[in-house]
Amino acid sequence: MSTNGKKGKKQGVAVLIQLALLLLLCACGDRGAAGYRQITQDEALQMMEEQTGYLIVDVRRPDEFARRHIPGAINVPDETIGSEMPEALPDREQVLLLYCRSGNRSKQAARKLADMGYTNVYEFGGINTWPGETVAEPEEAAPDPNDEPAPDEDSPAEPSEAALDYLVLVDKNHPLPEGWEDEIRLERFTNAVGDEVRVEKTAYEAYLGLKEDLAGQGVYVDLDSAFRSVAEQQAMLEDFTARYGEAYAGTYVAQPGTSEHHTGLALDLFLIVDGRIVYENEDLMRYPEIWARIHALLPDCGFILRYPGGNGYPYEPWHIRYVGPDAAREMAERGLTLEEYLAASP
Ligand SMILES: [Zn+2]
Repeated sequence: MSTNGKKGKKQGVAVLIQLALLLLLCACGDRGAAGYRQITQDEALQMMEEQTGYLIVDVRRPDEFARRHIPGAINVPDETIGSEMPEALPDREQVLLLYCRSGNRSKQAARKLADMGYTNVYEFGGINTWPGETVAEPEEAAPDPNDEPAPDEDSPAEPSEAALDYLVLVDKNHPLPEGWEDEIRLERFTNAVGDEVRVEKTAYEAYLGLKEDLAGQGVYVDLDSAFRSVAEQQAMLEDFTARYGEAYAGTYVAQPGTSEHHTGLALDLFLIVDGRIVYENEDLMRYPEIWARIHALLPDCGFILRYPGGNGYPYEPWHIRYVGPDAAREMAERGLTLEEYLAASP
């Protein structure tokens, strides 16, 4: 068992498959088929002034909500929205006005709610560009002006690819950089065991290239898990602690904020061997020759084997990390781990 939390994942698979089918159907239609409506912040403000019976839903983390939010908003973190109706949103017909920090998570949340059958979901971007009022919790009466810079933009900026640092180091000593979850652009798909997998966009494109190259050699791979949010990591830690005790959980589950999977750039592979899914870690370890062929193709696709063993982590042949082709080739040629590479480049 490693940090990838495979236990308990089978639950809800059927629901996820249904959800995935819905997503697939939606993807074929026009943008409106996403099932929610995207409106400007001025339109949202106008709805709040002129209408009644709506609910403002802040989908950020509770700590972000506590710091500052739109008056009257309730907090339903995006990470807590799964395939079942959130308790806080009992009415599928109610007008829901969703926002987050920059407009990324609110779009994800809006899509999930629409897929669940909510019929009046409106998404209006991020609080960092909100022209209306906001309130802070009493203990934060004097918010730090540097805390949440409000850029002068008319609409929430699309997270830009260039902003992501593909060499980011996230481990127990290097927590996920602030704002990463807002910047990252995620691709989602359903894997061969019916789980929804989310991957950072560029890393996903690179993975598809790797997968194709491998298929050309008769090696078939799929993705077990990639992106995992800080909130999901927290939930997993609590789940493992309840099931297996604190010592076990502390050993095998990374502390929230310190898992490389938060970056969306770390991918866990599993294998399909002779048409059979090989999924559990112990079983995956039985195919060293297949892993060798996979690892040989990684650098040209922009990936490195992150835990080759001996760098303070157990050997994980399935855990690969996107760093971009240039860096990946250089690390492979010089035999460097990511830590060594970063230490060597000023
Ligand atoms: Zn992993």
